[in-house]
Amino acid sequence: MKLDKSVIAITGGARGLGFAMARRLGRQGATLALMDLDTDALDKAVSTLHAEGIEAGAFRLNVANETSVKQAFGDVAASLGPVAGLVNNAGILRDALLVKAKEGKVEKTMSLEQWQSVIDVNLTGVFLCGREAASQMVEANQGGVIVNISSISRAGNMGQSNYAAAKAAVVALTTTWAKELARYGIRVGAVAPGFIETDMTASMREDMLEKLAAGVPLKRLGNPDHIAQSVAFIFENDYFTGRVIECDGGLRL
Ligand code: NAD
Repeated sequence: MKLDKSVIAITGGARGLGFAMARRLGRQGATLALMDLDTDALDKAVSTLHAEGIEAGAFRLNVANETSVKQAFGDVAASLGPVAGLVNNAGILRDALLVKAKEGKVEKTMSLEQWQSVIDVNLTGVFLCGREAASQMVEANQGGVIVNISSISRAGNMGQSNYAAAKAAVVALTTTWAKELARYGIRVGAVAPGFIETDMTASMREDMLEKLAAGVPLKRLGNPDHIAQSVAFIFENDYFTGRVIECDGGLRL
């Protein structure tokens, strides 16, 4: 897909990996619709992009709320035009073990709220935003690209029943949509990041970070632009659909 002047929506685009994607796609000429729950972070992100000469608009939404998603995608179409690309990137963590016990006594379990909130944002949010974006693409009749952000955790990870289930399901959505939407010239791919340096890792102790990196075959964490590069590849490669790029330094080998 030609990125120049294409309208690309990025959920959770106000910070972290989403912002790195916005910057990379923006430098390649795309017009960005940054979509996020956090209004202050959105305003800051859009001002930073504008200062770099990148065209971008801020759209507040809660990806887990159908009315909010419909409204926000309608606003994007009205102000920038129909979306030609979407990155389903917004995500949250609410980690807890399924069952935590001490001396044979259950002390804690993952709550239904912890389960549901992650499923709502990381899975239902992908469905709702994907549906709106695909509808706009089909009606515009110009094809399009949807990229879903999964995770290394989709293989299963301690304390992440909710997150791993959602991130595995996102891959199932990716293959299903790739099959359903190919007839409209819409390609769908996914990126599964490994351990990436973010605000969260910046606050971790040096020895903890070293331990984390030691478990990666490449012996280092990735940076947000590694993930942005994988996303840009999916946008640009016209014969790529239905697959997952695992950008994780070999962590899952
Ligand atoms: P982050 O927490 O830095 O940013 C997430 C953004 O999503 C925030 O701006 C937040 O406001 C927004 N958001 C949260 N809930 C929302 C909602 N309901 N509606 C709209 N926006 C919402 O996260 P990140 O580290 O940049 O991660 C981005 C994506 O990459 C997530 O899907 C995450 O699961 C995935 N991922 C990250 C890593 C990593 O190492 N950082 C690894 C694997 C996968």
